[in-house]
Amino acid sequence: MLVQNLRLVFIGPPGIGKGTYASAISRIYGIPHISTGDIFREEIEKQTELGKKVESYVKKGELVPDEIVIEVVKNRLQKEDCKEGFILDGFPRTIKQADALEKFAKIDLVLNFYAPDEVIIERVSGRVVCPNCGAIYHLKFMPPKEPWKCDKCGSKLVRRPDDEPEVVKKRLEIYRKQFAPIIEFYRKRGLLVDVEASELADKVVPKIVKVLEEHGFPPPRSAESCG
Ligand code: ADP
Ligand code: ZN
Repeated sequence: MLVQNLRLVFIGPPGIGKGTYASAISRIYGIPHISTGDIFREEIEKQTELGKKVESYVKKGELVPDEIVIEVVKNRLQKEDCKEGFILDGFPRTIKQADALEKFAKIDLVLNFYAPDEVIIERVSGRVVCPNCGAIYHLKFMPPKEPWKCDKCGSKLVRRPDDEPEVVKKRLEIYRKQFAPIIEFYRKRGLLVDVEASELADKVVPKIVKVLEEHGFPPPRSAESCG
């Protein structure tokens, strides 16, 4: 079988499902899903030297300084498991990071996931949880039997503060501002592919595979045969 590198960057607003798509594509293609947010949270959890350095930024939701993030990603991409490719999720997030990445790695494609704001807001703000037993529902896609009432314990369901429509809207605005220059950066280089992601993940994932195929990256045969 032809061994082909597949080095991807995933870009998309909060709530679009980018992490879910990245995990799925990672499994299908056998390349690691590298999320800088996950790396930082793990390092903080373990209270490593890096974890302590980035903790205050991450806790406040501020960007970690470019020098630190760039170093982390550069080291991560040198690991053995990145030899045949990778999916970067959450990086680059500034032009300085995009410039740096260009110097230490070749990128094959950048997938830019998008959907109308209303679709994202509906998806995110439909998420409700049971404060008593932790059960998770979605008012539209996985509704409890009675509205706002937990099937398991009968408690009144709540929304996480971050999932309130107004908060989601605000985060979408911040996202647009922050990522416009990066999207532009990759569009200019001819690497950007826009992927409409209004549908649920079970529809979007096959669509991504199709997009990759069309750009000369068919899934490895082992993955195809097991569905
Ligand atoms: P969020 O979408 O809430 O920012 P992420 O999981 O992408 O969630 O990132 C969590 C945090 O990690 C960010 O708020 C930021 O502090 C830090 N972080 C992740 N990626 C980067 C990056 N590329 N540049 C700077 N900081 C980053
Ligand atoms: Zn419950």
